[in-house]
Amino acid sequence: MKKISILIPAYNEEDVLEQLYHRLGKLANDNKNYEFEFMFADDGSTDKTLDMIKEYAETDDRIGYVSLSRNFGKETGMIAGLDHVTGDATVIIDADLQDPPELIPEMIKYWEEGYDDVYAKRNTREGETWFKLFTAKSYYWLMGKMTPLINIPKNTGDFRLLDKRCVEAIKQLRESERYTKGMYSWIGFKKKEITYDRDPRAAGEIKQNYKKLFNLAFDGITSFSTTPLRISTFMGVLVSLSAFLYLVFVIVKAVIMGSQVAGYPSTIAIMLFLGGVQLLSLGIIGEYIGRIFKEVKQRPLYFIEESHIAKSSKKAR
Ligand code: UDP
Ligand code: MG
Repeated sequence: MKKISILIPAYNEEDVLEQLYHRLGKLANDNKNYEFEFMFADDGSTDKTLDMIKEYAETDDRIGYVSLSRNFGKETGMIAGLDHVTGDATVIIDADLQDPPELIPEMIKYWEEGYDDVYAKRNTREGETWFKLFTAKSYYWLMGKMTPLINIPKNTGDFRLLDKRCVEAIKQLRESERYTKGMYSWIGFKKKEITYDRDPRAAGEIKQNYKKLFNLAFDGITSFSTTPLRISTFMGVLVSLSAFLYLVFVIVKAVIMGSQVAGYPSTIAIMLFLGGVQLLSLGIIGEYIGRIFKEVKQRPLYFIEESHIAKSSKKAR
């Protein structure tokens, strides 16, 4: 029998865990021709999340978990989980049931047809603010422009089925500031898109706050694109060229009309503009140096507080 691992990154999800466990249990019961493993990646939860998982694991041999030593963020939680799954394919799913587990059989169907990465694209995103929708849309647009060589599908998250060889490929990408969404595209392999309606969060508060998302967005650009560096070079060329033309203009004007001491507003405007462009370019270069700094340290991605590997795919009770 083929084994499907379900990887669930969870950070302070005590409110939804019971529902999630129920829905996953139902999934396994309805698809008896596969073995299932439920691998929880507990991202340093401070509530009862880990206790609940352990309690389930006592009576349910399908359950495994890795618990990180602190909150590392969802991207790191996912690689910790991927490092420990044992299935022939792995489905990554959010704990909050925004991604319906009922879609998994369809993913498995396409996997059996030979696809390696079956990802679910969101038709609608219920229960999300217009601001989040707007920022998401603008970001996908920007990202598309910045990374012309790899195609990162729009409105697609981590909810997907990965064949074992995709999992092995992603496990080899050990960069510390991770942008997993770009990695799925970067590794290649045969992809299949399916669509679904994203549900609102089943319970509990949102864990990926805007600060985390903003940082992730930034990492996405700096880890998959050097276009910003190109832009700053381009700005430099453009500004120098205009400065040169203006210089010619000033000299010619002085020769023909003689020089008058005037032009305070133009001087100050040019100074401010140049200063702005220089700071911006420095900032962009700084972003990349920051990335290099973090990567050269070669730190391990995470530390494990405790872990438990699923014993079998059978429910013990
Ligand atoms: N999550 C995590 N570590 C974090 C933040 C979030 O493992 O630091 C998990 C969270 O438990 C959930 C998933 O990542 O299973 C998505 O988080 P959330 O629903 O808060 O954000 P969304 O992606 O839906 O906006
Ligand atoms: Mg969510």
